[in-house]
Amino acid sequence: MAVADDRAASPDAELPAPDDRRASRDAGLPAPDDRTASRNAGLPGAGEAAQVSAFWRRLGLPGLIDVHTHFMPDNVLAKVWAFFDGRPGGSWPIAYRLPEEQRLALLREFGVRRFGALAYPHKPGMAAWLNSWAAGFAARAPHALHSATLYPEPAAVGYVATAIERGARLFKAHIQVGGYDPRDAWLDPVWGMLAEAQVPAVVHCGSGPHPGGLTGPGPIGEVLARHPRLVIIVAHLGAPEYTEFLNLAGRYPGVHLDTTMAFTDFLEYLAPFPPALRPRLAALADRILLGTDFPNIPYPYLRQLEALAGLGLGDDWLRGVCYHNAAALLGLDRG
Ligand SMILES: [Zn+2]
Repeated sequence: MAVADDRAASPDAELPAPDDRRASRDAGLPAPDDRTASRNAGLPGAGEAAQVSAFWRRLGLPGLIDVHTHFMPDNVLAKVWAFFDGRPGGSWPIAYRLPEEQRLALLREFGVRRFGALAYPHKPGMAAWLNSWAAGFAARAPHALHSATLYPEPAAVGYVATAIERGARLFKAHIQVGGYDPRDAWLDPVWGMLAEAQVPAVVHCGSGPHPGGLTGPGPIGEVLARHPRLVIIVAHLGAPEYTEFLNLAGRYPGVHLDTTMAFTDFLEYLAPFPPALRPRLAALADRILLGTDFPNIPYPYLRQLEALAGLGLGDDWLRGVCYHNAAALLGLDRG
Protein backbone atom coordinates (compact mmCIF):
# COMPACT_ATOMS: atom_id res chain seq x y z
CA MET A 1 0.00 0.00 0.00
CA ALA A 2 0.98 3.59 -0.49
CA VAL A 3 2.16 4.29 3.02
CA ALA A 4 4.40 1.24 3.13
CA ASP A 5 5.86 2.00 -0.29
CA ASP A 6 6.76 5.51 0.67
CA ARG A 7 8.28 4.49 3.93
CA ALA A 8 10.39 1.85 2.22
CA ALA A 9 12.02 4.64 0.26
CA SER A 10 12.44 6.86 3.28
CA PRO A 11 15.89 5.86 4.58
CA ASP A 12 17.42 7.40 1.48
CA ALA A 13 15.34 10.53 1.65
CA GLU A 14 16.66 13.84 2.91
CA LEU A 15 16.30 15.17 6.41
CA PRO A 16 13.21 17.30 6.89
CA ALA A 17 13.74 20.98 7.52
CA PRO A 18 12.99 22.01 11.13
CA ASP A 19 9.91 23.88 9.96
CA ASP A 20 8.49 20.77 8.40
CA ARG A 21 8.83 18.94 11.65
CA ARG A 22 6.94 21.55 13.58
CA ALA A 23 4.18 21.59 11.04
CA SER A 24 3.71 17.88 11.26
CA ARG A 25 3.70 17.88 15.06
CA ASP A 26 1.13 20.63 15.17
CA ALA A 27 -1.01 18.65 12.82
CA GLY A 28 -1.47 16.15 15.67
CA LEU A 29 -2.68 12.72 14.75
CA PRO A 30 -2.75 12.10 11.08
CA ALA A 31 -6.31 11.61 9.95
CA PRO A 32 -6.43 9.47 6.81
CA ASP A 33 -6.35 12.61 4.66
CA ASP A 34 -3.54 14.11 6.63
CA ARG A 35 -1.27 11.22 5.94
CA THR A 36 0.09 12.63 2.75
CA ALA A 37 0.86 15.90 4.43
CA SER A 38 2.55 14.26 7.36
CA ARG A 39 4.54 11.97 5.08
CA ASN A 40 5.70 14.92 3.04
CA ALA A 41 6.74 16.60 6.26
CA GLY A 42 9.10 13.68 6.78
CA LEU A 43 7.39 12.00 9.71
CA PRO A 44 7.49 9.22 10.39
CA GLY A 45 10.26 8.01 8.15
CA ALA A 46 12.59 10.36 6.37
CA GLY A 47 14.92 12.01 8.81
CA GLU A 48 13.24 10.51 11.84
CA ALA A 49 16.18 8.23 12.56
CA ALA A 50 18.53 11.20 12.66
CA GLN A 51 16.22 13.00 15.06
CA VAL A 52 15.88 9.98 17.35
CA SER A 53 19.67 9.51 17.35
CA ALA A 54 20.19 13.19 18.12
CA PHE A 55 17.96 12.74 21.18
CA TRP A 56 20.11 10.03 22.84
CA ARG A 57 23.41 11.48 21.63
CA ARG A 58 22.61 14.77 23.33
CA LEU A 59 22.15 12.84 26.56
CA GLY A 60 25.51 11.08 26.07
CA LEU A 61 23.84 7.65 25.89
CA PRO A 62 25.03 4.73 23.75
CA GLY A 63 21.50 4.45 22.33
CA LEU A 64 18.07 3.51 23.67
CA ILE A 65 16.64 0.43 25.34
CA ASP A 66 12.95 0.05 24.56
CA VAL A 67 11.37 -2.66 26.71
CA HIS A 68 7.99 -2.55 25.00
CA THR A 69 7.87 -3.20 21.27
CA HIS A 70 5.87 -5.90 19.54
CA PHE A 71 7.17 -8.58 17.23
CA MET A 72 5.04 -11.60 16.47
CA PRO A 73 4.31 -14.02 13.66
CA ASP A 74 3.07 -12.19 10.55
CA ASN A 75 -0.42 -13.67 10.67
CA VAL A 76 -0.84 -12.63 14.33
CA LEU A 77 0.45 -9.14 13.71
CA ALA A 78 -1.91 -8.82 10.74
CA LYS A 79 -4.80 -9.56 13.13
CA VAL A 80 -3.57 -6.95 15.60
CA TRP A 81 -3.39 -4.38 12.80
CA ALA A 82 -6.86 -5.36 11.60
CA PHE A 83 -8.13 -4.75 15.13
CA PHE A 84 -6.70 -1.23 15.16
CA ASP A 85 -7.96 -0.58 11.63
CA GLY A 86 -11.44 -1.53 12.77
CA ARG A 87 -11.60 1.01 15.57
CA PRO A 88 -14.43 3.48 15.01
CA GLY A 89 -13.37 6.46 12.95
CA GLY A 90 -10.11 4.81 11.91
CA SER A 91 -8.52 6.72 14.75
CA TRP A 92 -5.52 4.47 15.18
CA PRO A 93 -3.49 4.43 11.95
CA ILE A 94 -0.50 2.11 12.42
CA ALA A 95 2.55 4.29 11.76
CA TYR A 96 5.00 1.46 11.05
CA ARG A 97 3.04 -1.03 9.00
CA LEU A 98 6.12 -2.56 7.41
CA PRO A 99 7.60 -5.98 6.76
CA GLU A 100 9.56 -7.37 9.72
CA GLU A 101 12.93 -6.78 8.12
CA GLN A 102 12.19 -3.07 7.67
CA ARG A 103 10.86 -2.71 11.18
CA LEU A 104 14.10 -4.21 12.50
CA ALA A 105 16.15 -1.94 10.27
CA LEU A 106 14.28 1.10 11.56
CA LEU A 107 14.95 0.23 15.20
CA ARG A 108 18.63 -0.18 14.31
CA GLU A 109 18.63 3.22 12.60
CA PHE A 110 16.94 4.77 15.63
CA GLY A 111 19.81 3.45 17.77
CA VAL A 112 17.61 1.12 19.82
CA ARG A 113 20.31 -1.15 21.22
CA ARG A 114 17.96 -3.68 22.81
CA PHE A 115 14.21 -4.08 22.75
CA GLY A 116 11.58 -6.29 24.33
CA ALA A 117 9.91 -8.11 21.43
CA LEU A 118 6.56 -8.85 22.98
CA ALA A 119 3.93 -11.29 21.76
CA TYR A 120 0.85 -12.36 23.70
CA PRO A 121 -1.98 -14.87 23.30
CA HIS A 122 -5.68 -14.07 23.33
CA LYS A 123 -6.76 -17.67 23.84
CA PRO A 124 -5.52 -20.96 25.30
CA GLY A 125 -3.15 -23.22 23.41
CA MET A 126 -1.31 -20.37 21.75
CA ALA A 127 1.43 -19.26 24.16
CA ALA A 128 3.78 -22.23 23.68
CA TRP A 129 3.70 -21.69 19.92
CA LEU A 130 4.33 -17.94 20.34
CA ASN A 131 7.25 -18.74 22.64
CA SER A 132 8.92 -21.00 20.14
CA TRP A 133 8.42 -18.37 17.44
CA ALA A 134 9.88 -15.73 19.79
CA ALA A 135 12.94 -17.88 20.54
CA GLY A 136 13.60 -18.17 16.81
CA PHE A 137 13.05 -14.46 16.36
CA ALA A 138 15.54 -13.60 19.13
CA ALA A 139 18.07 -15.89 17.45
CA ARG A 140 17.77 -14.10 14.11
CA ALA A 141 17.41 -10.58 15.53
CA PRO A 142 20.36 -10.15 17.89
CA HIS A 143 19.17 -6.83 19.34
CA ALA A 144 15.87 -8.32 20.43
CA LEU A 145 15.59 -9.41 24.04
CA HIS A 146 14.51 -13.02 24.06
CA SER A 147 10.89 -12.59 25.17
CA ALA A 148 8.13 -15.05 26.05
CA THR A 149 4.53 -15.06 27.17
CA LEU A 150 2.01 -17.00 29.25
CA TYR A 151 -1.65 -17.81 29.65
CA PRO A 152 -3.59 -19.47 32.49
CA GLU A 153 -3.65 -23.10 31.34
CA PRO A 154 -2.30 -26.44 32.53
CA ALA A 155 0.68 -26.34 30.17
CA ALA A 156 1.85 -22.92 31.38
CA VAL A 157 4.22 -24.19 34.08
CA GLY A 158 6.01 -26.38 31.55
CA TYR A 159 6.39 -23.90 28.71
CA VAL A 160 7.36 -21.03 31.02
CA ALA A 161 10.06 -23.23 32.62
CA THR A 162 11.27 -24.16 29.14
CA ALA A 163 11.38 -20.52 28.03
CA ILE A 164 13.40 -19.53 31.11
CA GLU A 165 15.80 -22.43 30.52
CA ARG A 166 16.25 -21.34 26.93
CA GLY A 167 17.20 -17.86 28.07
CA ALA A 168 14.03 -15.77 27.94
CA ARG A 169 14.82 -12.48 29.66
CA LEU A 170 11.43 -10.83 29.54
CA PHE A 171 7.84 -12.07 29.65
CA LYS A 172 4.64 -10.40 28.54
CA ALA A 173 1.20 -10.86 30.08
CA HIS A 174 -1.73 -9.04 28.52
CA ILE A 175 -4.57 -9.34 30.98
CA GLN A 176 -7.00 -7.27 28.96
CA VAL A 177 -6.54 -9.00 25.60
CA GLY A 178 -6.18 -12.41 27.25
CA GLY A 179 -9.31 -11.74 29.29
CA TYR A 180 -8.01 -13.71 32.26
CA ASP A 181 -7.56 -13.28 35.96
CA PRO A 182 -3.90 -12.88 36.95
CA ARG A 183 -4.85 -14.65 40.22
CA ASP A 184 -5.86 -17.77 38.24
CA ALA A 185 -4.67 -20.94 39.98
CA TRP A 186 -2.84 -22.10 36.85
CA LEU A 187 -0.72 -18.97 37.00
CA ASP A 188 0.20 -19.11 40.67
CA PRO A 189 3.19 -21.45 40.19
CA VAL A 190 4.15 -19.50 37.07
CA TRP A 191 4.40 -16.20 38.96
CA GLY A 192 6.34 -18.09 41.62
CA MET A 193 8.79 -19.38 39.02
CA LEU A 194 9.29 -15.92 37.51
CA ALA A 195 9.83 -14.42 40.97
CA GLU A 196 12.35 -17.15 41.79
CA ALA A 197 14.24 -16.63 38.52
CA GLN A 198 13.90 -12.82 38.85
CA VAL A 199 12.84 -12.62 35.20
CA PRO A 200 10.69 -9.52 34.66
CA ALA A 201 7.26 -9.60 33.05
CA VAL A 202 5.71 -6.68 31.22
CA VAL A 203 2.11 -6.82 32.39
CA HIS A 204 -0.66 -4.87 30.71
CA CYS A 205 -2.82 -4.64 33.82
CA GLY A 206 -4.08 -1.06 33.66
CA SER A 207 -7.62 -0.47 32.48
CA GLY A 208 -6.69 1.58 29.40
CA PRO A 209 -7.69 1.85 26.65
CA HIS A 210 -10.66 -0.40 27.49
CA PRO A 211 -11.30 -1.63 31.03
CA GLY A 212 -11.51 -5.37 31.44
CA GLY A 213 -13.17 -6.98 34.45
CA LEU A 214 -9.81 -8.18 35.71
CA THR A 215 -7.62 -5.18 34.94
CA GLY A 216 -6.73 -2.48 37.43
CA PRO A 217 -4.42 -2.56 40.43
CA GLY A 218 -6.59 -4.93 42.51
CA PRO A 219 -6.05 -8.36 40.93
CA ILE A 220 -2.33 -7.92 40.11
CA GLY A 221 -1.90 -6.37 43.56
CA GLU A 222 -3.08 -9.64 45.07
CA VAL A 223 -0.59 -11.54 42.92
CA LEU A 224 2.17 -9.29 44.26
CA ALA A 225 1.00 -9.87 47.82
CA ARG A 226 1.47 -13.61 47.25
CA HIS A 227 4.74 -13.18 45.33
CA PRO A 228 6.33 -10.02 46.71
CA ARG A 229 9.63 -10.63 44.91
CA LEU A 230 7.95 -10.77 41.52
CA VAL A 231 9.47 -8.31 39.05
CA ILE A 232 6.83 -6.73 36.85
CA ILE A 233 6.87 -3.83 34.45
CA VAL A 234 3.44 -2.23 34.42
CA ALA A 235 2.71 -1.33 30.80
CA HIS A 236 1.57 2.17 29.83
CA LEU A 237 2.51 3.45 33.30
CA GLY A 238 -0.71 1.80 34.45
CA ALA A 239 -2.96 4.17 32.50
CA PRO A 240 -5.46 5.33 33.47
CA GLU A 241 -4.86 4.17 37.08
CA TYR A 242 -1.56 6.06 37.33
CA THR A 243 -1.89 6.85 41.04
CA GLU A 244 -2.74 3.32 42.07
CA PHE A 245 0.10 1.73 40.11
CA LEU A 246 2.60 4.28 41.42
CA ASN A 247 1.37 3.30 44.89
CA LEU A 248 1.98 -0.36 44.05
CA ALA A 249 5.52 0.52 42.98
CA GLY A 250 5.97 2.30 46.30
CA ARG A 251 4.93 -0.86 48.12
CA TYR A 252 6.87 -3.50 46.12
CA PRO A 253 10.48 -2.96 45.03
CA GLY A 254 10.01 -5.30 42.05
CA VAL A 255 7.31 -3.13 40.46
CA HIS A 256 8.54 -1.05 37.54
CA LEU A 257 6.53 0.95 35.01
CA ASP A 258 7.06 1.43 31.30
CA THR A 259 6.32 4.70 29.54
CA THR A 260 4.55 3.14 26.57
CA MET A 261 2.38 5.88 25.00
CA ALA A 262 2.30 7.79 28.28
CA PHE A 263 2.51 11.59 28.05
CA THR A 264 1.97 11.64 24.27
CA ASP A 265 -0.84 13.82 22.99
CA PHE A 266 -2.62 10.65 21.98
CA LEU A 267 -2.76 9.12 25.47
CA GLU A 268 -3.09 12.48 27.20
CA TYR A 269 -6.35 12.86 25.33
CA LEU A 270 -7.62 9.45 26.44
CA ALA A 271 -6.10 9.26 29.92
CA PRO A 272 -4.30 12.43 31.02
CA PHE A 273 -1.43 12.01 33.44
CA PRO A 274 -2.09 14.28 36.44
CA PRO A 275 0.71 16.88 36.62
CA ALA A 276 0.56 16.62 40.42
CA LEU A 277 2.01 13.11 40.10
CA ARG A 278 5.20 14.28 38.37
CA PRO A 279 7.25 14.39 41.58
CA ARG A 280 6.45 10.71 42.05
CA LEU A 281 7.99 9.96 38.66
CA ALA A 282 11.12 11.66 39.93
CA ALA A 283 11.01 9.72 43.20
CA LEU A 284 10.73 6.41 41.30
CA ALA A 285 13.35 7.51 38.77
CA ASP A 286 15.18 4.17 38.66
CA ARG A 287 12.04 2.12 38.07
CA ILE A 288 10.63 3.81 35.00
CA LEU A 289 11.61 2.31 31.68
CA LEU A 290 11.25 3.47 28.11
CA GLY A 291 8.56 1.61 26.21
CA THR A 292 6.87 2.69 23.00
CA ASP A 293 4.53 0.04 21.48
CA PHE A 294 6.47 0.23 18.20
CA PRO A 295 5.30 -0.58 15.54
CA ASN A 296 1.64 -0.36 16.55
CA ILE A 297 1.54 3.34 17.29
CA PRO A 298 -0.56 6.00 15.59
CA TYR A 299 2.25 8.59 15.58
CA PRO A 300 6.02 8.75 14.99
CA TYR A 301 8.41 7.06 17.44
CA LEU A 302 10.08 10.39 18.15
CA ARG A 303 6.93 11.67 19.85
CA GLN A 304 7.42 9.31 22.79
CA LEU A 305 10.89 10.72 23.40
CA GLU A 306 9.72 14.31 23.04
CA ALA A 307 6.88 13.62 25.45
CA LEU A 308 9.33 12.30 28.06
CA ALA A 309 11.63 15.28 27.64
CA GLY A 310 8.60 17.56 27.92
CA LEU A 311 7.98 16.44 31.50
CA GLY A 312 10.87 18.63 32.57
CA LEU A 313 12.31 16.05 34.95
CA GLY A 314 15.85 16.64 33.73
CA ASP A 315 18.53 14.87 31.75
CA ASP A 316 19.56 12.47 34.49
CA TRP A 317 16.00 11.24 34.72
CA LEU A 318 15.88 10.79 30.94
CA ARG A 319 19.17 8.91 30.93
CA GLY A 320 17.86 6.45 33.49
CA VAL A 321 14.51 5.98 31.75
CA CYS A 322 15.84 5.71 28.22
CA TYR A 323 18.76 3.39 28.94
CA HIS A 324 20.34 2.78 32.33
CA ASN A 325 17.31 1.50 34.26
CA ALA A 326 16.56 -1.21 31.72
CA ALA A 327 20.24 -2.07 31.35
CA ALA A 328 20.45 -2.64 35.11
CA LEU A 329 17.16 -4.53 35.40
CA LEU A 330 17.84 -6.82 32.47
CA GLY A 331 21.51 -7.33 33.23
CA LEU A 332 22.53 -5.81 29.91
CA ASP A 333 25.52 -4.04 31.45
CA ARG A 334 26.89 -7.50 32.05
CA GLY A 335 26.45 -8.40 28.40
ZN1 LIG B 1 1.93 -3.01 23.81
